[in-house]
Amino acid sequence: MSDVLIVGAGPAGAVAGIVLARAGARVRIVDRATFPRDKLCGDTVNPGTMAHLTRLGLSAEIERRGVRIDGMCVTGERGVAIVGRYPHGLTGRAIVRRDLDWLLLQHAAAAGCEIETGCAVRRAIVVERGGARMVTGAIVGVNGAERALEARVTIAADGRRSTIAFGLGLARHPVQPRRWAIGAYYEDILPGLRSSFGEMHVRRGRYIGVAPVPGGCTNVCLVTPLHRGDGAFADPAALLARELARDPRLRDRFADARLVAPPVVLGPLAVDGDGAALDGLLLAGDAAGFIDPMTGDGLRFAVRGGELAAHAALRALEHGWTGVADQLALKRRREFGGKWRFNRVLRALVASPRAVAAAARGARLAPGALRAVIARAGDCDVACA
Ligand SMILES: Cc1cc2nc3c(=O)[nH]c(=O)nc-3n(C[C@H](O)[C@H](O)[C@H](O)COP(=O)(O)OP(=O)(O)OC[C@H]3O[C@@H](n4cnc5c(N)ncnc54)[C@H](O)[C@@H]3O)c2cc1C
Repeated sequence: MSDVLIVGAGPAGAVAGIVLARAGARVRIVDRATFPRDKLCGDTVNPGTMAHLTRLGLSAEIERRGVRIDGMCVTGERGVAIVGRYPHGLTGRAIVRRDLDWLLLQHAAAAGCEIETGCAVRRAIVVERGGARMVTGAIVGVNGAERALEARVTIAADGRRSTIAFGLGLARHPVQPRRWAIGAYYEDILPGLRSSFGEMHVRRGRYIGVAPVPGGCTNVCLVTPLHRGDGAFADPAALLARELARDPRLRDRFADARLVAPPVVLGPLAVDGDGAALDGLLLAGDAAGFIDPMTGDGLRFAVRGGELAAHAALRALEHGWTGVADQLALKRRREFGGKWRFNRVLRALVASPRAVAAAARGARLAPGALRAVIARAGDCDVACA
């Protein structure tokens, strides 16, 4: 039996495993994918995330292999464009998730985690203990056969559509916001306002993120409220091409661009999470809740959330479960609450055409305010702490 079973070997699971294994726990990480694997993402690691990774001794290879990101260009309708460099010389990185997640998983293996890939978790094992329900591991299915993996602590780090959290009724898709993402890599796009900056093009009801990634390709993510039911995603490549062609800022830059591979569609994006309500179980990363990728900070919640879940697991292993879930929830609120509120306000603003128009006017008059927003979105306060 392991001390800790981690379901999901993305950034949240890998970081939780690294912290736990370094502290001497016996850790098993399982993932249904085989690594390296692709993952739809904007591929930007913001300065706050880089700061966490550096503190954990995990950033050297990411710094070396990633494209340096010095800040963000944000554009709105009617020609508004603000270039915001991250303050104090802070930088982020752009690196494809296939490489980022593989690098982190290799750190987890080096720290002593036992890793099993190609191994899908079907459900949590739930037992009655002293009149309360408790999670004691998970059932995995490999090649049609089921197997029980028992552990004293289970960490669900299995992403936005967490099998564990949805299976236990701890997560659900909210009615609003209801957005989908289409992500793709392009070659041969013309440079934007600044080559080492990420880009966010906010348009009525939707937005397009653009980031340079290693190897000369460009990551493009469209997030839109269209849904699968209305047939809009029947041909995602055509939808993406239409969106780029009708955008006055992007049209010319993408005129000769070529898709490197078929686009990937994901949604609905938002997931509401209740936190872990059962002893034996902790949630980390997107499995603990996900709203919208507009601010490009999901990786910070995953990396730091994985670390916090690991600390909670160590406490449970040493002292039992009393107060562990509450303390983790409190720590997450303290560290992430301000940013969750900031993100909520920003999303509400972008969803309102009048607010976008007012923000555009405001940005012209006081560009410093938008630069402050860019620094906050990049978690530069975390990097400076
Ligand atoms: C369109 C889009 C763009 C984004 N852009 C950015 C960005 O630029 N910067 C940023 O910081 N964040 C971004 N994010 C958010 C970021 O991608 C996530 O927050 C991050 O991937 C969360 O990491 P995780 O480890 O929690 O989950 P994941 O990275 O999703 O990893 C979960 C793992 O669990 C595994 N798994 C799932 N189910 C099972 C199962 N049943 N059994 C076993 N294994 C399972 C999966 O195979 C996967 O490997 C973006 C998100 C989207 C949707």
